[in-house]
Amino acid sequence: MPIDLTSKRMLSDRLNAQIDKALQAENALETPRDYLGGSQIGADCERALQYDFFNTPKDEGREFSGQILRIFERGYWVEDAVIPWLRLAGVEIHTEDENGNQFGFSEYGGKFAGHYDGIITAGPAEFGPFPRLWENKGLKQEAWRPLVKNKLKKEKPIYYAQCQIYMEGAKLTENPALFSAVNMNTMEIYWESVPYSQPDTERLYAKAVRILQASHHGELLPRMSQDPTFYKCKWCDWNKRCFAK
Ligand code: SF4
Repeated sequence: MPIDLTSKRMLSDRLNAQIDKALQAENALETPRDYLGGSQIGADCERALQYDFFNTPKDEGREFSGQILRIFERGYWVEDAVIPWLRLAGVEIHTEDENGNQFGFSEYGGKFAGHYDGIITAGPAEFGPFPRLWENKGLKQEAWRPLVKNKLKKEKPIYYAQCQIYMEGAKLTENPALFSAVNMNTMEIYWESVPYSQPDTERLYAKAVRILQASHHGELLPRMSQDPTFYKCKWCDWNKRCFAK
């Protein structure tokens, strides 16, 4: 009897469609963030950050797909996996405060905020100095390899900015943050010490203030490019809205 590949494919399509629909419905019920996120402040376009801050609806067809939502979830799984691995290396890491809340910072009346993956308070001297902030990402191989080669500031400026803002927020500026990136294809782990930079942090805070003030006054900040086909604009979830007028 011939194998019916078509029906196998249809099973995947049908089942995935159900899962994706449920994930998207669940995501739609989540309370939208009402602050400018420290995890995104390093993004290039201040106008896009405003759209994000206001939870502006994305262009049609740019909503998160079920697959993207699963990729986001994978980021949490890998974070949960790295914590016990760090402990196996003798590192003392904390992910919640005494009230069971995730560590975080909140500035400007709660309009600029973020949550840290963890704070390392002790461990073997070679993994110090302590205390230090810990931030983790899971990356596909195509992103992980250039990061290892070029380092965080050059290759992933958004994550670098996040580390700077979080070190400042956590008052952990004396010691470099520990950044880890897990290669999601091979499960190799890259570690980097990220020293605090006051000039970079001041620049990022000034950017946050600029975005919040403009948003408060109902002003739209300039576009990062006047060309809607510029590659970063092509990826932008608000491309059509941004260039509509
Ligand atoms: S389309 Fe380009 S200029 Fe407009 S918000 Fe997006 S990134 Fe910024």
